[in-house]
Amino acid sequence: DTLARDPAAPAESHLFYQAHGTRPFIDRAEGIWMYGQDGKSYMDAASGAMVCNIGHSNPRVIAAMKEQLDRCTFAYRLQFQSEASEGLAAEIARLMPAGLDKVFFVSGGSEAVETCLKFARQWAIAVGQGSRYKVISRFPSYHGCTLGALAVTGYTPLSAPFDPMMRAMPKITTPRQYLDGRGEDPDAYGRRMADLLEEEILRQGPETVLAFIMEPVGGASTGAVVAPDTYYPRIREICDKYGVLLIYDEVMTGVGRTGRFLAAEHWGITPDLVAMSKGFAAGYAPLGAMIAPGRMVRQVLDAGGFAHGHTYAGNPIACAAGRAVVREIVEQDLSTNAACMGERQMAGLQALMAEFPFVGDVRGKGLLQAMELVADKETLAVLPKELNAASRLVDLAYERGLIIYFRRTRGGAEGDHVMITPPLTITPAEVDEMLDRLRGALRALH
Ligand code: PLP
Repeated sequence: DTLARDPAAPAESHLFYQAHGTRPFIDRAEGIWMYGQDGKSYMDAASGAMVCNIGHSNPRVIAAMKEQLDRCTFAYRLQFQSEASEGLAAEIARLMPAGLDKVFFVSGGSEAVETCLKFARQWAIAVGQGSRYKVISRFPSYHGCTLGALAVTGYTPLSAPFDPMMRAMPKITTPRQYLDGRGEDPDAYGRRMADLLEEEILRQGPETVLAFIMEPVGGASTGAVVAPDTYYPRIREICDKYGVLLIYDEVMTGVGRTGRFLAAEHWGITPDLVAMSKGFAAGYAPLGAMIAPGRMVRQVLDAGGFAHGHTYAGNPIACAAGRAVVREIVEQDLSTNAACMGERQMAGLQALMAEFPFVGDVRGKGLLQAMELVADKETLAVLPKELNAASRLVDLAYERGLIIYFRRTRGGAEGDHVMITPPLTITPAEVDEMLDRLRGALRALH
């Protein structure tokens, strides 16, 4: 009864999203604020689903999209080139690590990951390494919901029903020192966890292993887990040693979210392929991309072409939005703001951890951060599933006009965490207000 309904909406909804019917209708949004038809305002500390990196209703992006709408709404990429997609691809190539200069547009994160997997395979065939097809990934992880992306996803509740329909791909354990390496020297832990990749490559037979895919900073499946610095170069080294392609899934981490344009930059890593989406067009339009080196692209094209593509790929409106978003990120230096505001937010989360006995860990990089709720701070034992602690915290935050994002952690079957990932445009005063609202929700949960 507290939910305002659009008078024009039918009495019975014909949608069946999971949380459906429990949330207000959206009226409008601006900056980090969203306004429901219930007359309440909500602070968007989730950026939707880690998407709205530049906040809502940015006038520059809207103007760019309107201009494109007036000129042409759709031009199929095999029939016309468009300034919007050419311009965005050029901008991205300029911002990528050297050599990653060819862009293949898609409409979302799962499509971007699928594209990387299929491109990797076609490249291997093109260079005479057709025996390579296994893509090693990590558990827990999330790479998307389509069957190919799901085959490399380490999140049991989402993948288990489909196991008989997919070729199981090998997984190694994602480093989570707060859980399984406590007390160990971080450098040694990072190397030890990276060496799991070498062991797995040898177990599988190096001649069968095509690629290794990882999120440089964990997303919602682990709750913003960052590996020790030694992990990243060691993984690159192992991939090089065995001719295994290194795919960085930067769908959530890319476009400034962690304090750099790509998270890979923190460790000076050049992956072989990169998947991007989410913050790319920042919620203004569906957009994703695979970015690949020109050298590999030429080899695939010379061998007969890339047998892959989606109808909506390179849509001019989505690319016009993406181009304006990327310019905004660069010109407003929002990556740096993410790093600074991330520090302020992390200090606030640490204070909350000291205050509440059930906040067991806070972690992340830039404005990709998470808070884990536990039964026991010492052992980090999980809370009973029936308590639905993280889900209740989300509801309590909602009541206080704060939107945060929740997933069960530790691979999906157990554990509770919430993601705190506001737009990169957030100000110091807004960070403080957000933390106050979060404190109110935690007190109510207590
Ligand atoms: N990869 C990562 C790292 C993600 O976080 C997500 C979405 O959360 C995806 C892929 C899938 O993206 P989409 O939901 O746009 O298909």
